[in-house]
Amino acid sequence: MRKSATGMVYIVGAGPGDPELITVKAMRRIQLADVILYDRLVSEELLGYARSDAELVYCGKAPGAHAMPQHLINKALVDYALEGKLVVRLKGGDPFVFGRGGEEALELAAWGIPYEIVPGITSAIGAAAAAGIPLTHRNYAASFACVTGNRCHGDNSPIRWDLLAHSVDTLAIYMGVSQLPAIREELLQHGKAAATPVALIERGTTSRQRTIVGTLADIHTLAVTMKLSNPALIIIGEVVRVRDQLLHAEQQAIALIG
Ligand code: SAH
Repeated sequence: MRKSATGMVYIVGAGPGDPELITVKAMRRIQLADVILYDRLVSEELLGYARSDAELVYCGKAPGAHAMPQHLINKALVDYALEGKLVVRLKGGDPFVFGRGGEEALELAAWGIPYEIVPGITSAIGAAAAAGIPLTHRNYAASFACVTGNRCHGDNSPIRWDLLAHSVDTLAIYMGVSQLPAIREELLQHGKAAATPVALIERGTTSRQRTIVGTLADIHTLAVTMKLSNPALIIIGEVVRVRDQLLHAEQQAIALIG
């Protein structure tokens, strides 16, 4: 196994699910690594590109078990690097978008360990593309925001739903499945129109992707009916209409050609 005096940690984004959506740089780091610490949302296929003697460490949550606590992940990154190893910390999507990559980089910086951040396609970008929903569009949306849905607790919520309801055209909400009724309530309370189109994209970019479209008024019941499960992304805004327009145009084209 390759060792040097100083190790190095690569905090790498694996992309949104489809293994082909990883970057060339990320792939090169995977092929180089002595150790790979990977998360639940990372495609298994990508681990197949690791060296045959690389150590693979699962940090996600196994069914019925707990995820590795963040402080232990931080410690493992530091310990492996101090042993002189090339370490890849492989995360779903982008490491700096709800990925705790910032916390890990701070830990490494505090220890003086060299590190590199390799960005990835975040799931909002990937899932929206795969569902045919442009996050911006000249007719519908001049802005979009990536928002976490799991800190949605009424008055104590650090999320400014009041501002998001009015000042951002497209909302891409991560980790929001279990909070969907609360998110819907917040947005309606702050004056977002009940007719605003909403899309729920489950396992975006993978072969098991499902997309459900509705409005703010009925999306929470649709989610229950469809038994929506994680990982899923909520996209709220007029741009969701483009999906239907694309499907319609494609069907017309097929009818014309065929
Ligand atoms: N760093 C990741 C986000 C991690 S938070 C990124 O940049 O994408 C985990 C949340 O990401 C999930 O709860 C879900 O909302 C979203 N997510 C991740 N992969 C997804 C996928 N393939 N389809 C839809 N949503 C996904």
